[in-house]
Amino acid sequence: MTTNTSPHIPYIKECLSLAEKSPPRPTNFRVGAVLLSRKDDDPTFTDDRILSTGYTMELAGNTHAEQCCFANYAAVHKVPDDKVGEVLPVEPGRKLVMYVTMEPCGKRLSGNAPCVQRITQTREGGREGVHKVYFGVKEPGTFVGESEGCRMLTQAGIEWEHVVARTDVPRRTILILDDSSGATIEIAVLKQTSPNPGTTSQETPATGPGKPAWSSFSLMAPTATSLTQTTHVTSKDHNKIDISALQPGTLVRVKGTLSTFRSQMQLHLERFWLVRDTNAEMQFLDTRLRFLIEVLSVPWVLTDEEVETLRDDAERCDERTLEHKRRAERVARKRVEREERHARAIALQYEKEERERERELKKIREDGERVMRKFGFERSK
Ligand code: ZN
Repeated sequence: MTTNTSPHIPYIKECLSLAEKSPPRPTNFRVGAVLLSRKDDDPTFTDDRILSTGYTMELAGNTHAEQCCFANYAAVHKVPDDKVGEVLPVEPGRKLVMYVTMEPCGKRLSGNAPCVQRITQTREGGREGVHKVYFGVKEPGTFVGESEGCRMLTQAGIEWEHVVARTDVPRRTILILDDSSGATIEIAVLKQTSPNPGTTSQETPATGPGKPAWSSFSLMAPTATSLTQTTHVTSKDHNKIDISALQPGTLVRVKGTLSTFRSQMQLHLERFWLVRDTNAEMQFLDTRLRFLIEVLSVPWVLTDEEVETLRDDAERCDERTLEHKRRAERVARKRVEREERHARAIALQYEKEERERERELKKIREDGERVMRKFGFERSK
């Protein structure tokens, strides 16, 4: 996706033109969605098969693009909308991919099911479902407050990662985690500002009661070690979190809140689970299937050139409209000028004729007087 010939471009354009079909409303973003089946290891997407499309308010009611896309597919296969997951194709060597112009919503004011939920539902009951969603822009907070879609899915868990580095800075500890793909993420863990060594890690953190994974971690937390270390806290609730086990080489599953620090994406650690053996790893992999880790994991990002090309297209279109307008104005202006010129010419002509008339009148009068004088003169003789 770093060149101008990204195979994603046709889908971006398709989504944009679908979005254009959506009726403009003050309470909705116009969004387009395409659902397709993609062959594994097909970098040019030549074997893609489009299954369905949708756009905002395509169907009756306040319907969203993803919702319409699924509903259209469900209608073709004669099942209710919420059963679409059961009829979506499951083919070995192929996965379902969805393109949307905007991040799927995680919350809806209308009480309708949010699109993130509709996407995750396709994976219920151990189904393959929608494997990945590429979206253009993150949902602005205009209509539902904070954009929830990404956050919900991120908080569902992040794939297991290797701790590859651990750095201590005055206010926080930074862990660098490497996922299986080689991509890394920075995890920031806040340090407690006024440490209270009497009450470290013995307490059950408020976020974890009743959750087996957390309890088992609490039991194994080495209290003696943590007492000698800096106390860390979660960034949201400031609960104590013992990260002494998170040393380089550890395999761990983490959960947190995403934030940007100096234009770098960071995860603020809320909870974590150590993946201690293969068994635990397999168990986790199984759990992971039910979470939607890959859905929405890769935001579709346009390169500068792609943005430039799309903007040029839009501007060319604007320019054509503008040119039409200018031409019409030019024609109108010319007509007015012509009329004014005519009026002026007519006025001049009129004045000229008027002057001539006066001149003739004067001549006639003078002639008349001359005749009269002559006559009078002859009469007086
Ligand atoms: Zn939605």
